[in-house]
Amino acid sequence: MRPEILFPLFAEIATLKGVGGKLAPLVVKVAGERVRDLLFLAPSGLIERPVRKIAEAVEGETQTLIVRIDAHLPSHRPGAPYRIRIADETGFGFLSWFKGGGAHLAQAHPVGSDRAVSGKVERFGVEAQIAHPDYLVALERAQDIPRHEAVYPATAGLPARTVRRLALGALEKAPELDEWIDPPLMAREGWAGWRAALERLHAPVSEADIALDSPHRRRLAYDELFAHQLAMTQRKAAIRAEAAPAIPHSEVAARAQAALPYQLTGAQRRTLAEIGGDLASGQRMSRLVQGDVGSGKTVVAMLAMADVAASGRQSVLMAPTEILARQHLETLRGPLADVGVSAILLTGRDKGVERREKLAALADGRAAVAVGTHALFQDDVVFRDLSLAVIDEQHRFGVAERRRLHAKGHAVHLLALSATPIPRTLELTALGDLDISRLDEKPPGRKPVATSATPTARLDEVVARLHQALDGGAQAFWICPLVAESEVLEVAAAESRAVELRERLGPRVGLVHGRMPPAEKDAVMAAFAEGRIGVLVATTVVEVGVNVPNASIMVIEHAERFGLAQLHQLRGRVGRGAAQSACLLLYEPPLSISGQARLNILRETEDGFLIAERDLELRGGGDLLGARQSGLPDYKLADPAAHRDLIAIAAKDARALLARDPGLVSPRGEAARTLQELFDWRPDGDWSAAG
Ligand code: ADP
Ligand code: MG
Repeated sequence: MRPEILFPLFAEIATLKGVGGKLAPLVVKVAGERVRDLLFLAPSGLIERPVRKIAEAVEGETQTLIVRIDAHLPSHRPGAPYRIRIADETGFGFLSWFKGGGAHLAQAHPVGSDRAVSGKVERFGVEAQIAHPDYLVALERAQDIPRHEAVYPATAGLPARTVRRLALGALEKAPELDEWIDPPLMAREGWAGWRAALERLHAPVSEADIALDSPHRRRLAYDELFAHQLAMTQRKAAIRAEAAPAIPHSEVAARAQAALPYQLTGAQRRTLAEIGGDLASGQRMSRLVQGDVGSGKTVVAMLAMADVAASGRQSVLMAPTEILARQHLETLRGPLADVGVSAILLTGRDKGVERREKLAALADGRAAVAVGTHALFQDDVVFRDLSLAVIDEQHRFGVAERRRLHAKGHAVHLLALSATPIPRTLELTALGDLDISRLDEKPPGRKPVATSATPTARLDEVVARLHQALDGGAQAFWICPLVAESEVLEVAAAESRAVELRERLGPRVGLVHGRMPPAEKDAVMAAFAEGRIGVLVATTVVEVGVNVPNASIMVIEHAERFGLAQLHQLRGRVGRGAAQSACLLLYEPPLSISGQARLNILRETEDGFLIAERDLELRGGGDLLGARQSGLPDYKLADPAAHRDLIAIAAKDARALLARDPGLVSPRGEAARTLQELFDWRPDGDWSAAG
């Protein structure tokens, strides 16, 4: 329940002075629905408005001039601006309006009146001019023009200055709140109270105040991280408190493991032991296995499912795409059948009798394992006793989907798999309510992928070498560039690349992209997997995790446009077979410094965890590309990269507070609950782990 003291902050944005019917939707777009959202909207920059004489005004800078209105010069022809000539003791200047000029200006600012005017000064020859001044006020009101002005995100029809005014209005509604931060931490960091920090956020007086590492911004970031950590700690406790069937390690799984044509890696064994501990504990498992592409997650999941089957219960393995689901079934069916466990595939393509037969097998328990796609969520899919849900590429499923799956059983154990290693520093924030196992060891015998960067100008050479390799029996992926925001353009680029490559390499070039009908996509992928296609031209939608061991070459066009994590994922699709593999990063010079750094890191290492760590460093406080992919929450004030040192402190503090005061009933606990309400991080006990 929301405490009354927060009501003004959770009122709709329209309750703020100056937000009328027309403005409200724009404010909602920029900030959010509630006053609180404006309060937590951080400025992106700072404008200073130094006061200067006309003659000293600097071209291109925003300045305030103290002037006398000298003359009105109405527009003399269509398209020409309405102008006002202004003067001070150093000379003349002009104000101009292309829109909104007119007689009303002459009325409001008669010739001879003293005015303060502020805006960006431009010079045409010697003439200083301000087009569409930000402020034009009577001299007595000059103090209304702020000397320092925070710049806010804006949108068409809602200028940054209006957002600023509204944010200051929101600030007025912010009450003083009891402190939730541990006093020693406040002292150590030299932090101000919550309200004082917000005041500084919205009334910065220097560039340093805008920075993510300014004390007030860090404090506000900490608030958000702390609120989130409290919620995750509570959620984790709630999951643990839920009883679930205790599933012991079984002879069946042991036999399946013994029958594998290889030894499990140390990391796989450790992970299996961790999963086994969870399953046997009698409490609901909620575990994520993180491991690079090729680290062997599937077999780990399979052995867990064998234990579940041996106890007479059922499992599902959810894949984000049909191709992956098929591939999983092919991997699992044989080894599971050998130990008497039957697995079926259920996808959107199952229809009619076949589908009914499969549903019957799940309902009466004949099928112990169901591998499938979203089709498994449908209402008529009923299990006899669903006890384990394995979710592959977990970030590709939404909370609602996981919840629906959860509802199909009783206290279903959750095992999520992710091929997006995330740095340890971020685990707490992205995945704080899950237990984590890391597959940080590759199966033996994998040769490193020879990675090189080549400018696009040398494409001809690349194709010639590819030609040779294909003639020698190799297979290659050719990834076409990422086009920001436009799948249509991406597809077009891939199509024309496929045509070009076909001209040079012959018909052995296939094409797959996200806009193809699924059946067609599957057919192309199957042809590639079976070696009937030599080069697979693809947009980035090519499913992560697709296993084609014979593919040993990965060409990535415009590699500089991809994030580090994504490049690493793409490269992970080669180097799975016996042959020496190569990854060719084609780039368009000149490379930015960070682009160069990214390509260098890829050449230096194949360790996904290390790459993730370096990625975070490189991106610093900038925009976290691929953040969604790694399940990072959408923070308002915290920046997981810039404030990463605060994450661990917040996690520790959240645990400490909840250990002392599980019900959050002490004065500090109560303050902490108010904080959670402020950020909407409530412990809802659902299955919304990570993502
Ligand atoms: P992931 O899902 O983690 O990307 P997979 O489970 O698809 O990886 O495994 C990749 C390949 O490695 C598969 O062909 C699998 O049979 C093989 N594999 C898994 N574990 C081992 C191991 N310990 N030793 C050798 N090969 C393994
Ligand atoms: Mg996989």
